[in-house]
Amino acid sequence: MLHRNGLRELADLLTGRQASAREIAQDLLSRVGALNGRLNAFITVDQERCLREADEADARRARGEARSDFDGIPVAVKDNICTAGLRTTCASGILRDFVPPYDAHAYAGMRAHGFATLGKTNMDEFAMGSTTETSFFGPARNPHDDTRVPGGSSGGSAVAVAALMAPAALGSDTGGSIRQPAAFCGCVGVKPTYGRVSRYGLVAFASSLDQIGAFARSVDDAAALLAAVSGHDRRDSTSIDRPVDFGPDSLTGDVRGLRIGMPEEYFAGVAPEIADRVRAQIAALEAEGATVRPISLRLTEYAVPVYYLIATAEASSNLARYDGIRYGTPAPDAANLAELYERTRSAGFGKEVKRRIMLGTFSLSSGYYDAYYLKALKGRTLIIEDFRRAFAEVDVIVTPVTTTTAFGIGEKISDPLSLYLSDILTISANLAAIPGVSVPVGLDARGLPIGLQIMASHFQERVLLNAAKAVERVSPPVAPAL
Ligand code: GLN
Repeated sequence: MLHRNGLRELADLLTGRQASAREIAQDLLSRVGALNGRLNAFITVDQERCLREADEADARRARGEARSDFDGIPVAVKDNICTAGLRTTCASGILRDFVPPYDAHAYAGMRAHGFATLGKTNMDEFAMGSTTETSFFGPARNPHDDTRVPGGSSGGSAVAVAALMAPAALGSDTGGSIRQPAAFCGCVGVKPTYGRVSRYGLVAFASSLDQIGAFARSVDDAAALLAAVSGHDRRDSTSIDRPVDFGPDSLTGDVRGLRIGMPEEYFAGVAPEIADRVRAQIAALEAEGATVRPISLRLTEYAVPVYYLIATAEASSNLARYDGIRYGTPAPDAANLAELYERTRSAGFGKEVKRRIMLGTFSLSSGYYDAYYLKALKGRTLIIEDFRRAFAEVDVIVTPVTTTTAFGIGEKISDPLSLYLSDILTISANLAAIPGVSVPVGLDARGLPIGLQIMASHFQERVLLNAAKAVERVSPPVAPAL
């Protein structure tokens, strides 16, 4: 039953010598063994490695040299974060046998705090998607209803945390891939400010948007894991050196005097059950001393086209390296180099990845660059301005995360445009490089989780997470019956 505990409870058990890291690891591994066949949250689990890391932590603690309170607690890692010696597939056929020779900075940071490696989680191929259905390894399933998607692209991490297979997990968010699956599965998911966590060793999708962040079952736990992976890294030139002021025990959940903005654009077209619930939680924060005012983010309707032009353009360039020579499984019997590229990429990439490479190549090509890519960059600047104006008046912006709760597996995957449109509430934060968090705020009439999103200005993670903690306090629990 150790798997029922969050990071803080497990840390207390370890410190009080009521459980060993090995016992915790064994319990989580057997939980994963019991549920993964059904939920498909993990692509790779290396039991031996996990137990060895737990044993090493127990030995360190016995010597009085624990790396942190969390030393030895296993967490899950999205499979686009490089782990030396442990397969990292990005849920793609082209990387199905890739074993990285080095650790991502975020993974090294997590290990430096003693967190052990439970396994690598399922995701949409190269993090392109919102459902985890584009995975080469098959879809992950929502623990609240396994006929439904868990969201994506970090669906496996969200499922692992919500289904009590992992106390916390790392994910990545390019346009909502942490916040949206957190909302669909009913856990906390936080995407930090761009530059807060190094992207070194995160397999690139859209480099100007990608950020690593954390999933957990409480705001404090998500903050603790995020703090462990944050910090400056000279190997990522966009990494920023700022003090990490939101670590364990730093959050009060006090919202007295907090200025909350409610953008009308983020409530239009949202399922009434979700919009009403988010409004009710905002009213609860007002009762705790926050002030609420309506604001306008006028450019919200342009976020989807701007994002899909920029993300696909960057992806088409980033994915050029999978040529069968530098990366990827080379196709056999190619007569020449061009044929090798063509066959390797045709066989190795899935449909959605190919669609995005083609879209991105098109918008970057001569004659179309000005009309599409450059236009999108200008749109992005206007969206950034929109947020700047808003944050001159308010401290946080509170909205729904998604327009619906989790939909059925297979329901939307054949209609990519409708899936792209469903990202409308999350992608602006990536375009503006600001932090965002999704907090569960109860269930809809079908028993599916509803998420509330908070966004704050650059490097205001502490303000963001404090508000999230207040929301958590006034919200009903959402644990799935598993
Ligand atoms: N759903 C968005 C997309 O498909 C975002 C994905 C992500 O954040 N990695 O691009």
